[in-house]
Formats: sequence, C-alpha cells, structure tokens
Amino acid sequence: MRLRNGLATIVLSLSTVLGCEFLESKPQSQCFNCDDAQLPKKNNKYSPESYIRSDGYKSLIIEIDSVEGVNPIKEDDLKLVEQVLSRIIDKPKGISHKYSDVGIHTGKKVYQRADLEVLAAKYRSYDHDKLSLYVLYLSGEYYFNNIAGVALDDGTIFIFRENVPESLDKCILMHEAGHQFGLVGTIPQQRVHEDANHHQHDSNDLCVMFYKLTNPLNYLFDRQCLEDIAAVRKR
Ligand SMILES: [Zn+2]
Ligand SMILES: [Zn+2]
Repeated sequence: MRLRNGLATIVLSLSTVLGCEFLESKPQSQCFNCDDAQLPKKNNKYSPESYIRSDGYKSLIIEIDSVEGVNPIKEDDLKLVEQVLSRIIDKPKGISHKYSDVGIHTGKKVYQRADLEVLAAKYRSYDHDKLSLYVLYLSGEYYFNNIAGVALDDGTIFIFRENVPESLDKCILMHEAGHQFGLVGTIPQQRVHEDANHHQHDSNDLCVMFYKLTNPLNYLFDRQCLEDIAAVRKR
C-alpha cells in the first residue's frame, strides 16, 4: 500500500539525515526531527477526512497524557493550537482538550513503534464514538535518535520531550496534527509542495510541515498546506 511504502522511504531518508547532518555537523540539542509513520492498520477508523470534515465527526477532543517527570504542553499553548485549528478544520461543535493521565510509568528509555501502540491502547480514553487526537509526552528516545515526534495512524501522537524544548511545543503538536490531516501528500496536493527528500513534509522551511523545526514562531501551516486541507473540506 502507498503509505506502507512511504514509511520504508521515510526510514531511509531519516537515517541518512541523522547520520550525516544532525549527529556530525550540529549539536544534538538543535535536532528536531519527525518520523511520520502513518501506517494503515485494519481497525484504523480515523482518516484525514475525519479530522478535516464535519460530515462524520462534528467535534474534536485533544487528549494529553505524559509520563512521570515530563511536562506536557502548557494549557495556553494548547489553547492557541486549538484556536488555529478551529479556523482550518470543520468542527462546528468545537475543539476541546483534556489533560488525562499524567505521571504514566513506562519502564522504558527507548521506544519502538509497537511500544507506542501498546501505550496508546492502554491510556487513550476515547474510542471511535468520539474523534480525538491522543498526544503522549515521553522521556527517552524513539529508536531513531533525535526524533521529536511520531505520528501513528488512528490519531496517535508521541512527543519526545528530551528533543523538544517547551518553546517548540506548539510547533511540534501542530506538525503532528498536520500528519493526521494527511499533510503533505497523503491528501491530494493542489500544487506539489512535498519535499522530495523528506516524504510527507513541506519543502517550504517557513511551513510547520517542514521536516525540521527550530523556530518557536513557525507553528502555522503555509498557504499550500491550507489549500490542500480546504480542498478536502469542500469536497
Ligand atoms: Zn513530520
Ligand atoms: Zn505547508
């Protein structure tokens, strides 16, 4: 399937970037990277259309969890993300949030994809009767070094606090939400803007869907991403 092939490519390109650019030429603390492993699975019910359109779900709740000793996104930042999203996606009954499980103990320092899926299955509060984004802030590392966030299918997002200063929380959450909306290239591109070297990311370094985020002010979708979302919304 298309996305499964896409992941294989992502893994290769990230390995290349990490091996030659991030680890060798830049301090590790400046590396913010994203693994957009949006693999389809059989029971996946949330699609980009679920998030963008209102003919399925009319509201969205963002559920925030965190592991022991890790601060999740601050509420003011989260509200700003909600305000921005409420102007972009069609949720007539609104976007809200809930801080749910804080102080989760995982017993792990390195996470594989399967570990993340187990955590989401255990701690996510909402089933498919409601539309949610499940966001878990973790300590430790994804099994690739320097990964800031991982977006998996079915609306689950994992953010590695050691690679994400709180000043970038809005950026990273918006970026991972963008992957759940099918950016870049999972939903049709009105004009091609996918970065040829970083699949599912924007070639515009001023867009929050750029593959690497370092500027706290860069938390918005650019015009081309907005056009892609608007086309799905109007379809
Ligand atoms: Zn990404
Ligand atoms: Zn963009």
